Amino acid sequence: MPIEDSSFKKLQGIVGHTHCSRKKEDLVCYAYDATGHAYMPDAVLFPQNTNEVSRILKTANEDRFFVIPRGSGSGMTGGSLAVNGGVVLVMTRFSRIHHIDKDNLIAHVEPGLVTGSFHRAVEKEGLFYPPDPSSSEFSTLGGNLAECAGGPRALKYGVTRDYVLGVEAVIPTGEIITTGTQTTKGVVGYDLTRLLIGSEGTLGVITRMTLRLLPLPEAIRTMSAVFAQVETAAETVSEIIRRSIIPRTIEFMDNASIRCVENHLKIGLPTEADALLIIEVDGKPPDIDMTIEELKTICISRGANRVDVARSQEEVERLWKARKSISPALFQYGPDKLSEDIVVPRSKIPDMVRMINRLKVETGLMMVSFGHAGDGNIHFNIMLDKKNKGALKKANAALETLFDYTLELGGTISGEHGIGITKTPYMAKEIGPVELMLMKKIKKAFDPNGILNPGKIFKNGFEI
Ligand SMILES: Cc1cc2nc3c(=O)[nH]c(=O)nc-3n(C[C@H](O)[C@H](O)[C@H](O)COP(=O)(O)OP(=O)(O)OC[C@H]3O[C@@H](n4cnc5c(N)ncnc54)[C@H](O)[C@@H]3O)c2cc1C
Repeated sequence: MPIEDSSFKKLQGIVGHTHCSRKKEDLVCYAYDATGHAYMPDAVLFPQNTNEVSRILKTANEDRFFVIPRGSGSGMTGGSLAVNGGVVLVMTRFSRIHHIDKDNLIAHVEPGLVTGSFHRAVEKEGLFYPPDPSSSEFSTLGGNLAECAGGPRALKYGVTRDYVLGVEAVIPTGEIITTGTQTTKGVVGYDLTRLLIGSEGTLGVITRMTLRLLPLPEAIRTMSAVFAQVETAAETVSEIIRRSIIPRTIEFMDNASIRCVENHLKIGLPTEADALLIIEVDGKPPDIDMTIEELKTICISRGANRVDVARSQEEVERLWKARKSISPALFQYGPDKLSEDIVVPRSKIPDMVRMINRLKVETGLMMVSFGHAGDGNIHFNIMLDKKNKGALKKANAALETLFDYTLELGGTISGEHGIGITKTPYMAKEIGPVELMLMKKIKKAFDPNGILNPGKIFKNGFEI
């Protein structure tokens, strides 16, 4: 549904001429996300307040054009792409912190705020917002809510949905809704807040949110453990959890990710290692020092070659820089990336690692694994040139095997990146027909004309 001139004029009237564009050079900047897929939108809009979003969606319903919400475009599954054309609604002007309420440990904020800026703002007040996707320096809170972002600290603190008490959103018909509470408890009616979180911008445009905060932990200790065999590292992760120790992060890098980051940054990573774990604990100093000692003992007894506790903030930053640079550094291995984020029960990580090793040998493809091992969440990547049709066919077959095995182990095909467009072919592997039909009915109830973010989540649309 391309946008008519008359509709575009109405949009100019709503947001003002300087906050909308149909110029090719502007559109191209909003045609991409982190998948590398590209779809040119028909127009791009930068609304500033809820009333403008409401009027835009009402116009879209009357004139029948598509609207695609967008934060920073760092999504890994194509959620913010205009796959069927339409208007991209860039939410970055919604960047205000309305109030950090220290008495009630909550904050009222807008969705275009970059997550890392919010972290720093609450930390200045001695408070803590745990969700920290590795993209936190550029992704927005709105994108985090729409994807239910996770990140390294999810192991101890949970994911984005655990910190959202309520939202203001504009549903596709243009009505403004307020969901949830400002209190830590609340059970009145269906939980529309949770329905919107993780809905990938298909049920409503989030325009404001009430987030739950925690007191800032007193201290943090960070350590790394180097393993000669990836299986041993995986077994160590399972052992730590089995012993009921819950660090705030257990991040994992395989040999291919260690080598590509080292090649990229030259920061002295152990390129000969088969796996590296980055483990972090937080809390009160005497307790966390004891936990670190316990973790060192477990790592060494399970076969780590080397364990180092970071002695300075620079050492901590070096480790996190290495971890957070993996995604961009990977492109040394190939121009295209098939990027998955499967999750398996933590006791099954060693089985999954063995399966990945088998796939590497059988296909001969460049496969790289890293991620939030403490959650059982492995970011599995196949680097290739998609023009090589033989390699692409092999890669797609490997993904089928990987997803089937993930589900066999009791896991899920996406821990935090969502379905978007890239995982639609696999939805029905995990979600049964009745559940899928209920989801489509929900979409239809919110969006009877199908104008908001079409082509996402459901492979063949949401018609029942
Ligand atoms: C290097 C790198 C590391 C990453 N690490 C992690 C990680 O550790 N954990 C993790 O979970 N993800 C990670 N991601 C993925 C990505 O950053 C997250 O999904 C993030 O939440 C997307 O935020 P965004 O602002 O970029 O949203 P976008 O990509 O712009 O949009 C994502 C989805 O949200 C919708 N959306 C955006 N704003 C709104 C709104 N206001 N209302 C309704 N819908 C909206 C869009 O329509 C789209 O469906 C990573 C990405 C990169 C590139």
